[in-house]
Amino acid sequence: MFSALQNLPSTGRFAPSPTGKLHIGNVYTALGAYLSTRRFPHSRFILRIEDLDTSKDTRKESEKIIENLEWLGFDWDELVFQSQRLDIYREALKEIRDIDPEDPLLYPCSCSRKEICAQSPADPIDGMRVYKGKCRKNPPSSSQGCSIRLKVPRAGEKRIEVRDFIFGPRIFDLEKQIGDAVLKRRDGQFTYQLAVAVDDGIEGIGQVVRGRDLLKSSALQIYIRRLLSLKDLRFAHLPLILENGGVKMSKSRGSADVSLLREWGASPEQIIGFCAWLMNLYPAPEPVPMGIEECVKLFSYKKVKFGPNRLKDRELPAYFSDPHWWKRSGGSYRRIEYGIYG
Ligand SMILES: [Zn+2]
Repeated sequence: MFSALQNLPSTGRFAPSPTGKLHIGNVYTALGAYLSTRRFPHSRFILRIEDLDTSKDTRKESEKIIENLEWLGFDWDELVFQSQRLDIYREALKEIRDIDPEDPLLYPCSCSRKEICAQSPADPIDGMRVYKGKCRKNPPSSSQGCSIRLKVPRAGEKRIEVRDFIFGPRIFDLEKQIGDAVLKRRDGQFTYQLAVAVDDGIEGIGQVVRGRDLLKSSALQIYIRRLLSLKDLRFAHLPLILENGGVKMSKSRGSADVSLLREWGASPEQIIGFCAWLMNLYPAPEPVPMGIEECVKLFSYKKVKFGPNRLKDRELPAYFSDPHWWKRSGGSYRRIEYGIYG
């Protein structure tokens, strides 16, 4: 039931979560996803709002993100909300549960966050922690209040290859590098990993373009999709943009966001041209303002393959740090440096 659409390279998506403002790093990712799709004459681009956390009302944040994307010049053929797909995720979970009743692929896990944190350190790039399989070996007596985990193949049993346009082929060992993954949290919420695997499958996405911090997740999502008989697809993980001190940009940390730049008088072309420059789509010492249409002609994955640290310690370019804006912000807007790491 999940393999309704064919995965076409001309079908792409941008999938922001409405947990804060749209920052420069998000626009850079959105641009990569958009351009890699729109370079095909008959393309389909989907804007997917990842609002899985239904305990919070995120309608306002979603609207703001959508409005900012429109202002920047993005357009899409379909707008979907994960919160409206809970039945589909439930069905997918059931399908995985039914694969082998003798040796179920799913099991309840009663481990607290604290226990899991004590078991293994967080990966510095993606924050993932490898689950050591405590409840797989010793199942809890009741599944009440438990999360649901998916058994991944034992080390060496099966390796997953992620085919990436930028990072090339990458092989992952799910047990060693990811561990059994939570598909449904103890509060009943389906996880990002399940939802994204299902969404990319049913929407017929042919290439997923997103930040490099999700490269490892792709291996897990390929595994989940295969369990659901959904076709494999191609990936392009963009090198991340880092700011001061080498930390990842994030909405919650208040990184340079589109609304603020708009308030300061930045034009869509300035922001888009800046992101295209970060992506190395045109050679220039400083960014050049340009519209999205112009960027479509410039896009090629080959250009994105720059070496690590090429943009390290570069100051936010003059056209964003105009002294006038700086003054208006009360000088509180911190200097931003960019770095790229592979
Ligand atoms: Zn557990």
